[in-house]
Amino acid sequence: MIISAQLIDLFERNIYPAELEIDAGKIVEVRKVAHVPEGAGYLLPGFVDAHVHIESSMLPPTEFARLAVVHGTIATVSDPHEIANVLGVEGVEYMLHNARNTPFQFCFGAPSCVPATCFETAGAILDAAAVDGLLAREDIGYLSEVMNFPGVLNADPDMLTKIAAAQRLGKPVDGHAPGLRGADAERYFAAGIQTDHECFSYEEGLGKARLGVKILIREGSAAKNFEALWPLLLEFPNQIMFCSDDKHPDDLIHGHINQLVVRALEKGCPLFDVLRAACLHPVEHYRIGTGLLRPGDRADFIRISDLETFQVLETWLAGECVARQGKSLLPHQAVDTPNQFLASHRQPEDFEWQTQSSAGAIRVIGVDDGEIVTRSIEGIAPIREGRLCADPASDLLKMQW
Ligand SMILES: [Zn+2]
Repeated sequence: MIISAQLIDLFERNIYPAELEIDAGKIVEVRKVAHVPEGAGYLLPGFVDAHVHIESSMLPPTEFARLAVVHGTIATVSDPHEIANVLGVEGVEYMLHNARNTPFQFCFGAPSCVPATCFETAGAILDAAAVDGLLAREDIGYLSEVMNFPGVLNADPDMLTKIAAAQRLGKPVDGHAPGLRGADAERYFAAGIQTDHECFSYEEGLGKARLGVKILIREGSAAKNFEALWPLLLEFPNQIMFCSDDKHPDDLIHGHINQLVVRALEKGCPLFDVLRAACLHPVEHYRIGTGLLRPGDRADFIRISDLETFQVLETWLAGECVARQGKSLLPHQAVDTPNQFLASHRQPEDFEWQTQSSAGAIRVIGVDDGEIVTRSIEGIAPIREGRLCADPASDLLKMQW
């Protein structure tokens, strides 16, 4: 099979008319040609979400892939942390098993912090032995976000053993250190942690980038840091990737990493730096098996309309067209669920609680739009018959457990 279009060569930083010869799912040859048909568009390696919890899409990996390929995404780096918190290793195995049914590439990590803190009542604990067992598997690509940064700074033996296991196996170690700066940041990353996707200000990102940390610019359904962090792409183009962290289904249906590419170009970032961040850096850092348009590579690529709107015309995986003109061509697949979600019915009274106080002053977890970092603030809750009540009018709600 021959595919022709303008080819965007991310290695040579060059664009030229080319023909791809594809056989048995691989690129046999890339030939420069004199011209290509009008409207053939541009070919480039597909987009990669460098950090996303598939579980946040409320979909199993096969269905996530069906939606993501429409936007030119061909791979993700994914921490199965959420399902591991519910089901432990069995949950991770479910994700790995389901992902085998799609040509989309999921690079799954071994969750490093299940539960995230000892204050959580998680459904499972992944200790150093369990993480070691996961890391040894060929289908586990890295140690995922080391959220327990106090554990790293205080040399917690369990945490350090997990990091050492990844290093012994030559697998990358992902960071997660919101707000960490100065000497603490230096010590945290010196422990062998290579990335961070939690920067929420430019200064924080700058400090970490100067330590040589690879910065994942995150823009997802929960946290939105693109506006704060995009200038880092100008200063540290070789250390940047894009990620969503959490992508809810109603967002995923509208777009994915392709949206960040367009926004970065609109800010004036150089084309090749943007595309290398979106397509190349995650594949190299995590050693994902997706093709990068070189002879011998798996035939994974996308065709876009032009270099301004970046409309995704086609997405190809292993030599098959899996999305065309906004429609996914990947089949729906039956889903076997690994567990059941059982919840008892709740009454409004369940969301009230007894108090001796008459003032109703309470501590509240303050949440800001577009941020996942919370604040401790004070609020006044209405009191009815000796019970503190939620007050939706002032956005004061009670968490139920
Ligand atoms: Zn995350």
